Amino acid sequence: MAFENFEVWFITGAQLLYGGDAVVAVDGHSNEMVNGMNAAGILPVKVVYKGTVNSAAEITAAFKAADNDEKCIGVITWMHTFSPAKMWIHGLQNFKKPLLHFHTQFNKEIPWDEIDMDFMNLNQSAHGDREFGHIVSRMRRPRKVVVGHWQDKDALKKIAVWMRVAAAWADAQDMRIIRFGDNMNNVAVTDGDKVEAEMRLGYHVDEFPIADLVAYQDKVTDEDVAELVAVYEQEYKLAEDCQEGGANRGQVLNAAREEIALRRFLQDKGAKAFTTNFDELAGMDQLPGLACQRLMAEGYGFGAEGDWKTAALVRTMWFMGQGLPKGCSFLEDYTLNFNGSKSSILQAHMLEVCPLIAEDKPLLSVHPLGIGGKNDPARLIFTSKTGEGVAATIVDMGNRFRMIVNVVDCIKPKKLPKLPVASALWIPQPNLEVGAAAWILAGGTHHTSFSYDLTVEYLADYAEIAGIEMVVIDENTTIDGFKKELRLNEVYYYINKALN
Ligand code: MN
Repeated sequence: MAFENFEVWFITGAQLLYGGDAVVAVDGHSNEMVNGMNAAGILPVKVVYKGTVNSAAEITAAFKAADNDEKCIGVITWMHTFSPAKMWIHGLQNFKKPLLHFHTQFNKEIPWDEIDMDFMNLNQSAHGDREFGHIVSRMRRPRKVVVGHWQDKDALKKIAVWMRVAAAWADAQDMRIIRFGDNMNNVAVTDGDKVEAEMRLGYHVDEFPIADLVAYQDKVTDEDVAELVAVYEQEYKLAEDCQEGGANRGQVLNAAREEIALRRFLQDKGAKAFTTNFDELAGMDQLPGLACQRLMAEGYGFGAEGDWKTAALVRTMWFMGQGLPKGCSFLEDYTLNFNGSKSSILQAHMLEVCPLIAEDKPLLSVHPLGIGGKNDPARLIFTSKTGEGVAATIVDMGNRFRMIVNVVDCIKPKKLPKLPVASALWIPQPNLEVGAAAWILAGGTHHTSFSYDLTVEYLADYAEIAGIEMVVIDENTTIDGFKKELRLNEVYYYINKALN
């Protein structure tokens, strides 16, 4: 679990007004709370108590230390007593990492018979957390606010979501995305401002000629290939003509060679995501479909036709969802199925769908592909699991990035005997008519990053940390309301840009 490499720091706010005994009590309570939070078995990242801060100097020092610490991916703040919030200004001004404000309290209930003024002065989070919240809002500082007792599972689950997102955010800050070729000619939605993306989202995008990958491919030995094909035979069903001695066996070996070369290339370059382009295949035997599918399952973000924004988001959503059961994938809206209230969209791609979302053991098979002008490529064929998930994209609106998220319900498709690619079939919430119309009005891509395990809350936390626009299409969406939101956001981001 990659989350074991990270820490979230817990900083308690107080002041010295209430005397030395209070300081000792605050520290004792905070320690007990952090230990309890860690022991609950809900948080994926370890919480480290970093003491109580009682002055501007202590607050500034604590945030500086958090910013400089490699393992620290974010800070949780909580005001045990009252903490006058001007003390927090300088610390918050420089702090760059994700912030979560936990509005909680040591004691769960008021001790009705015992409570006196001393108790109330010591336990006044209701008071102190409002003062702290004010300055964070006044400073327009993005953060997540979670309200609940520290032993409450629902509160901890919200913190757990934020932790996974904060870890994915840390992962994105040095994300190198490698592109073989540019965007597919003339495509608008997959293009965008790579400089702004690096400033805003952390993504660094580099182009390499496919010839560099071909050079890696030339160094792959027959033994390497045989070893990988043995893995294929373990993990998948092989079509008869792909088995040893079969007519398409050579194509499977070539696909394995491409996969080995691509993995080594990405490892050598320190890349976390990549894109391919079917117009950039000189020296390759086939469009690398199987390789993209398998590398995605390992956590490499992937976008087809040069789509680096989707490649990055696929990596980020894979990272957030590590260890969760149902999986994620790059997908593309391909074909509509009009069927009343069950109208749906078939999700697929030429080849590249991640096998993490497969319902059953995938079939490894070789078929012709009209696009790209290369030999018949190998691919994994399967249909997806069913159930609710989220489809997300980030588009460049010219003056800002907009994240669009649609909650979708994956349903079982009919048999697809003549369609030799992996696919999913989903109904966008609230239904195809409203869901697809809203997506189109928002300027959403045909490529998406999809996950069964994540919810809107994860992506909302991500957009909050990144400071980008986010619009959600779910069961409550109406076209009237959605259009109003888009218009209001247009004004908000125009002014926001002018002020910053
Ligand atoms: Mn595509």
